[in-house]
Amino acid sequence: MPLDLPFDNSYARLPGRFYARLAPTPVSKPRLIALNAPLAARLGLDPQALRTDDALAALAGNAVPAGADPLAQAYAGHQFGNFVPQLGDGRALLLGELLAPDGARFDVQLKGAGPTPYSRMGDGRAWLGPVLREYIMSEAMAALGVPTTRALAAVATGDTVLRETPLPGAVLTRVAASHIRVGTFQYFAARDDKEALHALTTHALTRHDRADGTAIDLLNGVIERQARLIAHWLSLGFIHGVMNTDNMTISGETIDYGPCAFLDSYHPLRVFSSIDRAGRYAYGRQPDIAMWNLAQLAISLLPLIGDSDAAQTALDRFPHLFQRYWQDRFRAKLGLKTAQDGDTQLIETLLETMAAGQADFTNTFRALGTPQARDQFLDPDAFDTWHASWAARLAEEDTTPEAIKPGLDAVNPAIIPRTHRIEQAIQAAVAGDDAPFHRLTQALGTPFNLSHITRDLTHAPTEDEIVPHTFCGT
Ligand code: AMP
Ligand code: MG
Repeated sequence: MPLDLPFDNSYARLPGRFYARLAPTPVSKPRLIALNAPLAARLGLDPQALRTDDALAALAGNAVPAGADPLAQAYAGHQFGNFVPQLGDGRALLLGELLAPDGARFDVQLKGAGPTPYSRMGDGRAWLGPVLREYIMSEAMAALGVPTTRALAAVATGDTVLRETPLPGAVLTRVAASHIRVGTFQYFAARDDKEALHALTTHALTRHDRADGTAIDLLNGVIERQARLIAHWLSLGFIHGVMNTDNMTISGETIDYGPCAFLDSYHPLRVFSSIDRAGRYAYGRQPDIAMWNLAQLAISLLPLIGDSDAAQTALDRFPHLFQRYWQDRFRAKLGLKTAQDGDTQLIETLLETMAAGQADFTNTFRALGTPQARDQFLDPDAFDTWHASWAARLAEEDTTPEAIKPGLDAVNPAIIPRTHRIEQAIQAAVAGDDAPFHRLTQALGTPFNLSHITRDLTHAPTEDEIVPHTFCGT
């Protein structure tokens, strides 16, 4: 039975210079690796209907489902600080937008669907590794409550993709509130195309804020969402790794899981990405980089805002908003119900003690309120000193570390997608065994509830398991 999906493609109704219309390039032998049934249900789709041969053909890019209007979106972007006026979807195609039963609108995109006019030197394809990494990471983030693009399906193509070595190809079906980026605005600003900027602003406001808003409302909305998002990342030890302006959304969702990673042992300037040699996108630099990216958005919107003081005032809100969200997140991680003057100091002292003691970020927070917390530190005495001040602070709220433990467990996850586990799952899948991928994905679906079956997945990497660098690995 042909797939019947409720497409309504508002982006495709924007002027032709917003995109290049084209169909995906077929692949030889598609095989479904993963289908995200809960996400399908969220979209109002029958997961069974997505397991048919017709659906597989659509998810692989071998057939265009009725109602879809595939296109590659144009955008620009600052990559590591350098402006590139033309990027665009080089290996992704927006199939269209689906309206969920509650009226929510979702982009459905095939990533790795073949070359587009924006592919430059690339082949338009993805290999299995990055597809599985994005599936694992984005679904883990969603389960942790972080705004993110989602993974609806992963399909092996049966074709070989040539990177440094020949690798198995794959296509990811990505679902997002939208794929509008800071770089989408930069694209039209760089071309002095005020008419397009206006159309894009109206489109973005309609999707993410309010249809009757203005450019300054949009800027304020993005600033608010990004401040909240980056604080959430930091509270979980997440490093995006490639926060270029084309990888920052207007919706406030995390996008483009390339060389991203979660911290094992805590260090504020930790970098994983092999391409980030200067540490521009280090863990602790993410708020500053977000601010820098938002300034690029403000500059792009200036022709519409008109008043540069208004844009500056909007931007100046970011550090305060971020700080407030950051304090809220970390207060919750320590079980503090009220806000008090010394709280930032209390949080920062713990983080400094963790850095000095090479403590595992996730496992330390998860162990708070148990005798095992001190075992995470090279120097447990330093932790004991901090613990005494924390206990004293909790006493002011008439409680104790032990008493608040259930509340802590609801905000400090037991399991996050550790880089070495992702690598192990990818290597197994390349060798033909998808089981570790499925086991990991399943465990990450309930990150705050740990069953004994998944305990090994919570361990920090052993010396031989450490993956020192992560790769964009397109
Ligand atoms: P990213 O680093 O994933 O944000 O990608 C940056 C730019 O490179 C985007 O315009 C991508 O579409 C493009 N790109 C990345 N990998 C490929 C590929 N294999 N083929 C074509 N374009 C690509
Ligand atoms: Mg990107």
